Amino acid sequence: MSPKHVEDMYDAVIVGAGAAGLSAALGMLRSEPMRGMRANGIEPNVLVISKLQPLRSHTGSAEGGIAASLGNVEKDDWHWHYFDTVKGGDWLVDQDAAQLLAQEAPETVIALEHAGVAFSRTDDGHIAQRRFGGHTKDFGKEPVRRAAYAADRIGHQILFSLWQQCVAEGVEFAEEWYVTDLVVAKDGSRAEGVVAFDTHKGEAHAIHARNVLVATGGAGRLFHTTSNSWDLTGDGMALALSAGLQLEDSEFVQFHPTGLAHTGILLSEAARAEGGVLRNADGEAFMEHYAPGHADLAARDVVSRSIMAEIDAGRGVPDPKDPTGPKDCVWLDMTGIDADHMRKVLPQVVETIEKYADLDPTKDYVPVKPTAHYTMGGIPITTDGEVYRWIDGERAVVEGLFAAGECSCVSVHGANRLGGNSLLDACLFGTRSGKALASRIVENPVNDPLAVDDGASDADDVRQTADVRTAEIKELLAQLPEDDAAAGDNPYRLMADLGLVMERAVAVRCDADGIERALATLRNDLEPRAKALHAHSDSATFNQEITAIWEVRHLIELGEAVLEASDARHESRGSLKRLDFPERDDEHFLAHSMADASGRIAWQPVHIVDMPPKAREY
Ligand SMILES: Cc1cc2nc3c(=O)[nH]c(=O)nc-3n(C[C@H](O)[C@H](O)[C@H](O)COP(=O)(O)OP(=O)(O)OC[C@H]3O[C@@H](n4cnc5c(N)ncnc54)[C@H](O)[C@@H]3O)c2cc1C
Repeated sequence: MSPKHVEDMYDAVIVGAGAAGLSAALGMLRSEPMRGMRANGIEPNVLVISKLQPLRSHTGSAEGGIAASLGNVEKDDWHWHYFDTVKGGDWLVDQDAAQLLAQEAPETVIALEHAGVAFSRTDDGHIAQRRFGGHTKDFGKEPVRRAAYAADRIGHQILFSLWQQCVAEGVEFAEEWYVTDLVVAKDGSRAEGVVAFDTHKGEAHAIHARNVLVATGGAGRLFHTTSNSWDLTGDGMALALSAGLQLEDSEFVQFHPTGLAHTGILLSEAARAEGGVLRNADGEAFMEHYAPGHADLAARDVVSRSIMAEIDAGRGVPDPKDPTGPKDCVWLDMTGIDADHMRKVLPQVVETIEKYADLDPTKDYVPVKPTAHYTMGGIPITTDGEVYRWIDGERAVVEGLFAAGECSCVSVHGANRLGGNSLLDACLFGTRSGKALASRIVENPVNDPLAVDDGASDADDVRQTADVRTAEIKELLAQLPEDDAAAGDNPYRLMADLGLVMERAVAVRCDADGIERALATLRNDLEPRAKALHAHSDSATFNQEITAIWEVRHLIELGEAVLEASDARHESRGSLKRLDFPERDDEHFLAHSMADASGRIAWQPVHIVDMPPKAREY
């Protein structure tokens, strides 16, 4: 679907149609002030742009659940959820944001139910809830059932329900349009619009808007082994960097311990909860040594680090598909689980192993390794979704610019996210940012005959940026002679090379030398190669190589920020393990890194409300 035509000016442009972007669209349209405006016959001029057809957004892959202290199965309390979130994030969590997350979680889940999400049910008809790592009752005393679920398809349910609601509201989508630029006033004070590439026609459009919301998802594709789908190339984060803005806490990337070797596809934690055991090359169940209390069910970062320690000590195994290849996996042994029970409770896990590894988990050991799963950091936002810059020790809001979901950082996940908290973050803060957008729009809607048109110079900026892109597209389509070195290169190869460099340098653990080497490779090898890329077909229509070229450039830009921020943090916290700085250091680093495109890092203190940091026992 393409928009009927591109308007001269939009009230709001939302980039991204996953849980965050769609929640923002609905939060905006259904807010009180917006209902009032629409009742008076003034319709907002809104466009949702998505590089994918919306129903292919990664939100649809979420399996396990969404966290909320509904207390449907056993007693629960939002204060406990709040505590778990702060502790799980190794105290790098802004506590005012985490309070909101925990407090507004139940109403967020109930709103999803009303939007049509077919949650699994308890016998008496309530939304069913299951356990998830790190969610406890009584401030850490014992596990609690807090994750509301829909079999193992919660993301699919949420994505389809939100999308249907948007369609019912008449939201206009620009599908398979790729946003190449976020246009912000030169002084960084306000959003002016975006430039978007219509992949159907191969044309760049200047899209002038008073408000822009970025909801482009995560960046797992920075790493070779990832559970993320192919589209998660960190576009929104790179667009923010290119627009002169900062990223917060970009050094924190969560690795899930059990990615299926070779593919990185997620094998749910449930496999270990049901009795699966990790074993090294000697057949030893090694987690007993690293986490005697919780063994295979220790926190995600602990299990991932233990796997890497075994591999580093030479006790890894090769992927059976590549027996002479590197010994960079360990075994997941599920053979102790009753076969019938396994098929009943872990159908998705069994199917993934059979289909992608050609193995039978009831008889065979399964090769696994940590897989890049979630980006805790992102574009810094307030609890109303407003993007800000951290300047001279203060937050300076960029007027009309919002972000939500995995590309943003409201700082509820800190250094390590708890399962079930990210769908919640995307839906809850997506809705809040939509409401904040609505308040701005009703003040001066584009379609109001009395509206003040104050955006002529902003429109010029957006047009000029689009002209630059149009010239670039022409350049990218120009065919290179076969003997030109760049003609033999392509963005997919470059992405694979980048993934390996990042994986070696910062996956699960890192040190200064490795980071420095990786930065040099990115700057001296990958970046020049990315600049020299050309498409191999001169057709502009549906030329996916063009978007892949931009995607890999975005990944490289973002990769540099991740490396710079990892380098600057001289401590180990949550998902970041510095081998050369193994301890957490609250005295110097109880602060968020704020990295810009030039590699400068500023530090923003963590918001502590009522929970001073404590040691995080595993
Ligand atoms: C396998 C897997 C399982 C998970 N399971 C759970 C779970 O059980 N519980 C939980 O809470 N979380 C889970 N998560 C995490 C959670 O699903 C995500 O964090 C969340 O869905 C992100 O939503 P989003 O709206 O921010 O991004 P996405 O759903 O990724 O959507 C991003 C959108 O941005 C668009 N886009 C991106 N770049 C551009 C561009 N340049 N131009 C135009 N459009 C663009 C895309 O088209 C897409 O519509 C899981 C994640 C994975 C990968």
